[in-house]
Amino acid sequence: MEPDSRAFERNALKALSDKELQDALENAVGRIEARRAAAVASFDGFEAARERASGLRRETLSRLGDHLARFIEEAEKRGAVVHVARDAAQARGIVARVAREEGVALAVRSKSTAAEEISLDDALREAGVEEVETDLGGYVARLAGEPPSHILSSAFHMTREAVSRVFEGKLGEPPAADAATLSAIARKRLEESFSRAGMGVSGANFLVAETGSVVLLSNDGNARAGALLPRVHLVVAGIEKVVPRMADLPVFLRLLSRSASGQPLPSYVSILTGPRRDGDAEGPQRLHVLLIDCGRSAILEGKYRDALKCIRCGACLSACPVYGCVGGRPYGWVYPGPIGAVLTPLLAGLSEAAALPDASTLCGACSDACPVKVPLSAFLLELRSDTRFQGLKAPAEIAWAKGYASVMKRAGVLEALERILGELSRLVSKGHPLSGMPYPFAGWTERRDFPSVARRPFRKLWKIRRGARE
Ligand code: SF4
Repeated sequence: MEPDSRAFERNALKALSDKELQDALENAVGRIEARRAAAVASFDGFEAARERASGLRRETLSRLGDHLARFIEEAEKRGAVVHVARDAAQARGIVARVAREEGVALAVRSKSTAAEEISLDDALREAGVEEVETDLGGYVARLAGEPPSHILSSAFHMTREAVSRVFEGKLGEPPAADAATLSAIARKRLEESFSRAGMGVSGANFLVAETGSVVLLSNDGNARAGALLPRVHLVVAGIEKVVPRMADLPVFLRLLSRSASGQPLPSYVSILTGPRRDGDAEGPQRLHVLLIDCGRSAILEGKYRDALKCIRCGACLSACPVYGCVGGRPYGWVYPGPIGAVLTPLLAGLSEAAALPDASTLCGACSDACPVKVPLSAFLLELRSDTRFQGLKAPAEIAWAKGYASVMKRAGVLEALERILGELSRLVSKGHPLSGMPYPFAGWTERRDFPSVARRPFRKLWKIRRGARE
């Protein structure tokens, strides 16, 4: 697949015809969505917690500059070195400089979308640093030479059989069919890297302003090992990750974990407050925090500010019927699914990702699933409108939309059309759903039937049914 958001449609078509991918997605999305739904249903105060988390995020974003200044002051007071990068090129320059100055030869890295965003690999390569991905999914995806397909799990799109084939081909391991054996193979390979690495690199789930702390959540424990074992640790985080107080954390931890994997809490919660002090049993001797802007300040000032409320739980991905059919790779950049369809145009430029806001049925499942109430559906609609006004829509699509709007605005025309379609439906399919239609509608019936059209117009049916109820 092409690593390019502009190629979304081509990539999505490829994904739809990939049988192994379809099986993997059906399995993985179904499983994670069921776990999330069960975790949410068993959390009594879910709606109240969502409301509180959403309010806290909005409040924080409204004074982000103050909270960031406080975070930097407190982190530096405790011995961390804080860097700020305006864009990806500047961020890569800082990463390369830190690696060189700290004399790093090998870096272990845990999954971080911010690091992906700035192409951190290139910076380490430029500094002559060998790099090992330690997130299990990320390790597998890298061996396979594939980009991450989910915010939380890079190898979300791969079946166990596919992982086994990669281990066989790249590591010379014998075939294995169960997940435990496969993860044991990966762990054994990674263990040695942790002990040799001079630097660990991670993202941050949250940055706490009042204490200058970095909060890392993980389930496999590798992010924790990467943060505590190497001599130097480098955190790469977006500026929006700040929360004002330590007391704000619990609500986010409870929501994030349930929304991400259905667990009440993450398996590991690591809080780094400055580098290791005398008497500390573990922790890096040097702690660097790289805060990246990369377009976030512009988002903060505009109508899409609430997109920065996102806490990267991935719930909107599992809830989205489009993501469920095509997976993450067709989105072509760091952020897939509904939040990717919003963030990619905002961070990488609308002209780079004009197709992504269309990658949605606007069913609203993403907005309903979001634990911090990012208005994803409304933003997708707004971005579609932006693509239209920036001249990025095809003339045929604009003409079709204008025609559609003019019919929908005229009750008489709509009613006449409905009657004609109702009659046609009766003649062609005897009122039954159609299982196949000719081009250009053939795509619709490839995966589902087209419902029969009612013989009476919608408004008539509405009146009859409302009358029956009154
Ligand atoms: S937009 Fe909401 S649901 Fe999607 S990843 Fe962000 S926090 Fe999670």
